[in-house]
Amino acid sequence: MDLKSSHASPVLADPTPVNKSRLGVHSSLLPYSQTGTSFSSSMYISIPRKNKPGVPDDVRSNGWLDAMLSSSPPRKKLIMDMNSDAVVTDETADNAYASWMLKYPSAINAFEQVTSAAKTKTIVMFLDYDGTLSPIVDDPDRAFMSDGMRSAVKSVAKYFPTAIISGRSRDQVYKLVGLTELYYAGSHGMDIMGPVRFDESDNHLNYHSSTDKKGKEFNLFQPAKEFIPMIDEVFKTLVKNTKGIKGAKVENHKFCASVHYRNVDRKNWPVVGQCVHDLLEKYPRLRLTHGRKVLEVRPVIDWDKGRAVQHLLDSLGLSGRDDVLPIYIGDDRTDEDAFKVLREGNQGFGILVSPFPKETQAFYSLRDPAEVMEFLTRLVNWKEVNDGVAVSAASVPGGQREC
Ligand SMILES: [Mg+2]
Repeated sequence: MDLKSSHASPVLADPTPVNKSRLGVHSSLLPYSQTGTSFSSSMYISIPRKNKPGVPDDVRSNGWLDAMLSSSPPRKKLIMDMNSDAVVTDETADNAYASWMLKYPSAINAFEQVTSAAKTKTIVMFLDYDGTLSPIVDDPDRAFMSDGMRSAVKSVAKYFPTAIISGRSRDQVYKLVGLTELYYAGSHGMDIMGPVRFDESDNHLNYHSSTDKKGKEFNLFQPAKEFIPMIDEVFKTLVKNTKGIKGAKVENHKFCASVHYRNVDRKNWPVVGQCVHDLLEKYPRLRLTHGRKVLEVRPVIDWDKGRAVQHLLDSLGLSGRDDVLPIYIGDDRTDEDAFKVLREGNQGFGILVSPFPKETQAFYSLRDPAEVMEFLTRLVNWKEVNDGVAVSAASVPGGQREC
């Protein structure tokens, strides 16, 4: 498998922007936009915080509303955006997906290719939660994974070191998954419960050891620890300020405050956006990111899911090794940071979960959580048949930990 191949063919960029600017403004909405180009970090431009002529500083004119409207577009609309003159039918959408899959093959169809790369290596499995292990649902509190999926993940963790990396708080995702065999990274990797590190000299303020209820040692790494009181304050303010908006739901993810607007009447979305926008004006060290029908307020720090993957690999003593194959499965824009780390480090590959074509740094694709479960199950079956070829999680220091 060529882990260095580039993806040159045109694909549809995710309409939900990854906002590099602190206020989360999509460049296509700015006067100096670069629409029509493929996604790159250079497309996201920081703008001055003060009003400029022609660019009033509110949600209607600075791109927030556009990003909110496009955060979960119907599949047909995505295809229409790709070719606005085309009459979109299911057949058109299917053809576009099939064409896209030539570049990002299904990890199930290309299973032999995957296992061929893994044959003499230790797989390390990284999994996003929402939209990857669980379906996307209207109420985030009800985004449950199926028993079948839980069983598949448990089996994967039996053979390979496995971590969940989620935008949710670590406690919340742990409750939803409920498996003690895994490592958990919450808040987009800003709250990592990982193995005891080999290199004790790498100790610092954001990093400390602890024990779980059963006395097992683990390490907690929180690179944005200093922001906890600030996020709590922001959470409380957002709860108060969105109180009158029916359907708005605010969550405190410890290192990130989220405002869900999936259940808010569309005509009130600008009100939701304005609430968050006005609040951010008072917190220059926080920024906005757009998720699926959710606005997220996060610290401005150089840390993301990619850095979390690297941290966990370091902690396991498995980074930079030719005999290790990290695999990351995720569906979200924030997962692209992890795909990118693996691609650029030529040390594994990402698998994007998406039912429609998207630009991605992943190597393979899967359509939905059902296909994720099928892939994980096949991987376990393959390992059991080939047992003894690769090193199991049990032989990796820190493996088979209990929370
Ligand atoms: Mg997700």
